[in-house]
Amino acid sequence: MEKANSNPQDIVIIGAGFVGVATAMWLQKSGHKVTLIDPEPFEKGAYFGNACTIATYANIPVGTPSTIKNIPKLLFSPQSPLSLSWSYLPKLTPWLLRFAWASRPSQVASISHQLGVLLSHAQSALAPLIETAKGEDLVAKNGTLYLYGSEAGFMKAKSDIQLRRLSGIPVTKLTKAEISDLEPQLNPVYKRGLFFDNAQHLLSPLNLLQRMGASVIAKGGQIITNKALGIERVDAQKLKVLLQGSSVLADKVVVAAGAWSKHLARQAGDQLPLDTEQGYHLMYNAQQQLLQRPVGWADAGVYLTPMNDGLRAAGTVELAGLNNPINPRRLEIISGAVNDLLPQLKNYDSQWTGFRPSMPDSKPVIGRSSKDGGIFYAFGHGHIGVTLSGITGKLISELIDNKAPSVDISAFAPGRF
Ligand SMILES: Cc1cc2nc3c(=O)[nH]c(=O)nc-3n(C[C@H](O)[C@H](O)[C@H](O)COP(=O)(O)OP(=O)(O)OC[C@H]3O[C@@H](n4cnc5c(N)ncnc54)[C@H](O)[C@@H]3O)c2cc1C
Repeated sequence: MEKANSNPQDIVIIGAGFVGVATAMWLQKSGHKVTLIDPEPFEKGAYFGNACTIATYANIPVGTPSTIKNIPKLLFSPQSPLSLSWSYLPKLTPWLLRFAWASRPSQVASISHQLGVLLSHAQSALAPLIETAKGEDLVAKNGTLYLYGSEAGFMKAKSDIQLRRLSGIPVTKLTKAEISDLEPQLNPVYKRGLFFDNAQHLLSPLNLLQRMGASVIAKGGQIITNKALGIERVDAQKLKVLLQGSSVLADKVVVAAGAWSKHLARQAGDQLPLDTEQGYHLMYNAQQQLLQRPVGWADAGVYLTPMNDGLRAAGTVELAGLNNPINPRRLEIISGAVNDLLPQLKNYDSQWTGFRPSMPDSKPVIGRSSKDGGIFYAFGHGHIGVTLSGITGKLISELIDNKAPSVDISAFAPGRF
């Protein structure tokens, strides 16, 4: 139910991915008038091709002491889930230095705790939006499996399991037989596994996002198909968002343009170290439903997820900026993972690459610009932006209404850099 707001405002949200649309929905719930700006609504963002998990268990940052220790192997092994474009290295170096700094054990402990708190609100802040958008039929509640091809690999996950338990995230260790009982179609190349029984997954993220966008419009919001070029202050009340060939006025502006947010924040005066971890997927439009739930394969950094229109194999990380074309080597790693776990799937039907918006400390930026109190940032959600979209939108709407935020967001403030 939308509330009457004593101070309803015109709010422009730049970017109509999950974070932007969820923010628009929470702002509408609070009585505001919203306009979303996107050059390619419901076509191009990271929302299109992700692994579909509502990953409430994913509080482990990408950078850990073990990531740093394994970097040479990760970068030079042809099977590695991580790759780096050497020509992009000079541009990436400042981000990498911050990444290494955030990977120290003391930092990993506090980041995983902070992410754990945010994640504990993820489902309760996303579910009402899914309900408003009539998208409940697109959510499956069968948990998520994460598998290891060796006992040694599983042993290395010990510290992650501990960090999850410290954050109150339920995780069950599984034997080979228990995994086979849950997913009998899997080729038993795995040795051990973890089960996140509270996790949910989306049967079509794109379809859900479209329904959420339709709900925004049905409630009086609008979506302008255009690219935001910058934000200017007009006077004490109004901001102007510059578009290609036009502009739009707003009381408040939210930057939620995913991996493309950096230059908009810089243009507003905030230098934030956003970069991208490029990811990939392959779609297998299989007739037969082979899996009941997403299955992560630790050895390749890939998830196999059953969806409405087939099975999606998604993952890997490439550090190569926002203009990097599809790297066939990444697709081979993903198809290799499918071949390991579901050899009955022979040929894929389509391929995709997209750009995770990634901060070096694996934490999103949620907060007010340091330069203009009317500009808000909601980006940098890395591997878990779908999962965190609802709580991010709720927090931004609380900030705009000058309410105490449901979660202490100081750890996610733009000013932490
Ligand atoms: C392979 C892969 C697997 C993933 N798996 C998962 C998963 O299982 N679970 C999970 O929670 N997350 C997952 N993610 C991460 C998730 O997809 C992202 O974190 C999330 O989509 C980010 O949401 P966003 O709205 O910030 O950005 P996006 O989804 O990228 O949307 C940004 C939008 O901004 C628009 N935009 C860009 N520039 C401008 C501009 N100048 N003006 C206006 N609009 C602009 C774009 O067109 C786009 O629509 C995965 C990502 C990848 C790549």
